[in-house]
Parts: sequence; structure tokens; C-alpha cells
Amino acid sequence: MSNYTGAAPASPRQTDWRDLGLCRQPQYKNQADMWFATVHDKLDRDQAEQTCRRCPVVQACAIWAVLTNIQHGTWGALHEEHRAALRRRLSPEQRTDPATVKAAVHQALNGADNPQRTLHTIWAERTQPLPDGHLEWTGKQSVVYGGRPYTKKQVAFYISRGRMPVGIVRRTCEVEECVLPAHVADGQERAQQAVDDALRAAAVKAS
Ligand SMILES: [Zn+2]
Repeated sequence: MSNYTGAAPASPRQTDWRDLGLCRQPQYKNQADMWFATVHDKLDRDQAEQTCRRCPVVQACAIWAVLTNIQHGTWGALHEEHRAALRRRLSPEQRTDPATVKAAVHQALNGADNPQRTLHTIWAERTQPLPDGHLEWTGKQSVVYGGRPYTKKQVAFYISRGRMPVGIVRRTCEVEECVLPAHVADGQERAQQAVDDALRAAAVKAS
């Protein structure tokens, strides 16, 4: 039985990207507990992922681990379940196609699974001003965040109210593309508005 060191595999070969890996440095080399932590050792796994995130060859390593179907451990900031899920989304031909795997890994590291990404950063990337103070959403009309889809109006609502909307979020201004937070309302706000309007109308009638 060979000794797992947790570092990228050593085989007789030319120097390549693997030698640049942080996991090759002395302080990380003998940390199999960390690199091969399972879902039950969340602290170790998080630490492995965060170490990978600082590694200069994080993407190359993740691509390599997906292409060669490494079963266990954290490679290129992707845990074994992440790699398995990524491979399941690809056809058998795509799983061995470097360009396709590269695109999928890039998405996994920088896209929806990236912990640095929040609804606020998504909002900041996707919106641009329109004339007269309205705000436009650019690109795809919905996003997936934390494993669930959001419409652009739900994102506008969430980042401004700090809570999930109740019912459908509707635009309240006349500009069709607009997602300005002040120009959207959820079911709860519309109901409150209806009550306010009714009270105001009653007050006007009574006076
Ligand atoms: Zn508007």
C-alpha cells in the first residue's frame, strides 16, 4: 500500500504545472487528512478548497482531475462530489474533451459555485443605467445562485429588501426593461399598497 501524501502524484516525468501546486510545498505536502477529507470533515475540506483557491494552478489541476476522473479528494478547489456532478452534466464524449471540460471547470470555479459570488455581486455585474433613473438588467434573464433560480426582478427585490419576495415580483414603472429596486414590488407590498390606497380614499371621502 502506497503512502498517500495528499500531494499531486509523483511519477517519473518532466517538470510541469503540477510542480507549481501549493500542495507540493512542504507545509501542505503531508496533509492527506485535509486533501482527502470527505463531506463529513467540513473544516478540513473547506481548508483544502481555500488552499486551492490560492494556488497558481488551481484551474489546470481541476481540469486534469475531471478529465482523468480522479475519484477522491479535493483537486483544483473541487471536491469529489463537485467533480462527479460536473461530469454527470456532460456526455461521455464531452467528459474526455479538454475544451469542454475546461469551460465546465471555469464555470464551476468562477460561476455559480463560486463562494465569492453573491446576489449583490451578480446584481453589480448585470445592471446598467437607463435614461431617467431607470435601471436595466443585461444578459440572461434569470440567474442560478445557491442552487436555485432567480428572476432578475427577484434579484432586484432581494438585494434591496434583504428578504425573499412573497409571490410574484412585478414592475411598478412604465419602462419594460427596468429592474430598479424602487420600481419593483412583491405580492406583500402590493397588498399593503392596496390597503393604504383604500384607507386614503376612505379618508378623502370622510373629509
Ligand atoms: Zn423604472
